[in-house]
Amino acid sequence: MRYCKNCRILYSSQAAACPKCGVAEPPKKDNEGEEPVSGKAVRRDWLFLIIGTPLFILFVYLIVLLIKSIG
Ligand SMILES: [Zn+2]
Repeated sequence: MRYCKNCRILYSSQAAACPKCGVAEPPKKDNEGEEPVSGKAVRRDWLFLIIGTPLFILFVYLIVLLIKSIG
């Protein structure tokens, strides 16, 4: 059995959507929580790329300067 929040009624699990309002109830709520987490992970990767790449270039540049100053 499935439960419709809009109509507050139970209907057959074989039905794709609620017979009264026609709104389909998602099978699991866990999927809703996973998407924002993955979105944050993508944003973190972007932040890491934007901040990390110039820092890496600066780091390499400083090493080259250090080697040149010694040699
Ligand atoms: Zn309904």
